[in-house]
Amino acid sequence: MDLFRSYLHQQRLPLTRQREVIAMGLFESGEQLSVDDLADLLRGRGEHVGKATIYRTLSLLVQAELARELDFGEGFKRYELQAGEARHDHFICTSCGQVTRFVRSVVDEFQATIAAELGYTVQSRRLEIYGLCSECRAAVERASSAGAVTTGEAASSGQVRGEGG
Ligand SMILES: [Zn+2]
Repeated sequence: MDLFRSYLHQQRLPLTRQREVIAMGLFESGEQLSVDDLADLLRGRGEHVGKATIYRTLSLLVQAELARELDFGEGFKRYELQAGEARHDHFICTSCGQVTRFVRSVVDEFQATIAAELGYTVQSRRLEIYGLCSECRAAVERASSAGAVTTGEAASSGQVRGEGG
């Protein structure tokens, strides 16, 4: 709920009582709920929240990467709590240390396929890909091309540049 609050704050949206009730309903259920399921669940608690409000709040939770939208081909979407770390993957620059977070559904699908094959239930994931960021790579290329000039005795002919033509 703190994460949701800080996400809303970033988006300059208030954490209204209705948003809080809807998010808590989804978080506490731990299940995959449709908008109708959530409306029923909240009504059972004496909370009357419109379905449009539920839908918009679920969309916010998805954007905040706190919930995940699922489509089982039932003609409506279901939503489930998304453990924050389960879905983010990282590129890490080995030179400057820059960390770039990315989310790609294809990685989720890959993970689900392998988990099913190996009989695992996924709880979290940690995927870190190491390499050079574009700036560091450009710096390395500048450095190596500068170095090549000093060592190239036969490299003077046939320099091709793709401009002018
Ligand atoms: Zn870098």
